[in-house]
Amino acid sequence: MYTLVCPPDSPCGCGSGREFGKCCLKDGNIRTKPKLLDPPKPTTGHTHPKCALNWTNDCDPKISGDHFVSKSVLKVLGGGRIKITTRDFSREHSLDSSSLKTKKLCRRHNSALSPIDAEAARFFSAFVSIHGALEGLNASQKFYFFSGIDIDRWMIKTLLMVYYAKLSNITPDTHNLPVHAKKMFTWDLGSPYGIYFRTKMDSGDEGRFRVEGATTVQIHTAGKTVVGVTISLGGFPMTLIFHGNPRKFGISKESHAYRPKNLVFFKGDDVYCIAMAYPKWKGEDIWISNGDSNAPIPSNESAEQADADKPDPASSD
Ligand SMILES: [Zn+2]
Ligand SMILES: [Zn+2]
Repeated sequence: MYTLVCPPDSPCGCGSGREFGKCCLKDGNIRTKPKLLDPPKPTTGHTHPKCALNWTNDCDPKISGDHFVSKSVLKVLGGGRIKITTRDFSREHSLDSSSLKTKKLCRRHNSALSPIDAEAARFFSAFVSIHGALEGLNASQKFYFFSGIDIDRWMIKTLLMVYYAKLSNITPDTHNLPVHAKKMFTWDLGSPYGIYFRTKMDSGDEGRFRVEGATTVQIHTAGKTVVGVTISLGGFPMTLIFHGNPRKFGISKESHAYRPKNLVFFKGDDVYCIAMAYPKWKGEDIWISNGDSNAPIPSNESAEQADADKPDPASSD
């Protein structure tokens, strides 16, 4: 049994730059909340016909023409390519392609959703930094945490933009979107809906963690209904399901973890962690080996007692 220890004087995993003990650590637990995504008050009462969130009657008269993956995330992904796939469709786009710009959010909603773009950028940066650290680069931070709901919401936003921009053969003309999908920016659907992480990688690639290669957005459907999306950064896929029975889309307890508590990346005894905090949820840890897929999970049993009074970085309320 490995215990993750994050001293209170280390940099806070929220990315604030402050000390953990003076920032998000309260009574031995992480306190973090999903970002608020409502546009500033007062509401406008305006419904922009093209805005994906116009059901809230709180639009700006002007539409935004941003890239469907925000600039902050693009900067991290860098790789230059993004692949959009469905069961019977696949197309690769250059990340700077203007075809990836969508006019599907009004300016007001586009800027209201920008905090989740910033969190997604930080999330992918954490993967890239951890991967670099495990490959021998210097790393200042060992522990990162996120409100898992923010990442769910970034995934649904990305899916909505791909769907409305008709970047694949799954479009508003061919498939419907459950009404609650658009409401996920304000409330959480709860189990069994939300993020699933693969605990087993592809055969021959089991346990290996990659960040290079194209970013892939894969849309999942059941009949004529859009039910979820898988977004992969290099070889690391995460799936968001928001409708139907997840088992029908290849999600099972054997192969996936629902809303895991910690994503723990290791090589030898070098351990880095991304914690995913969800309200009232205690998920499991996933261990991801960098390189050798048969590497044993590091153990610090002897150190455990000495660290017993230190905070468990991955508890959340
Ligand atoms: Zn913090
Ligand atoms: Zn709007």
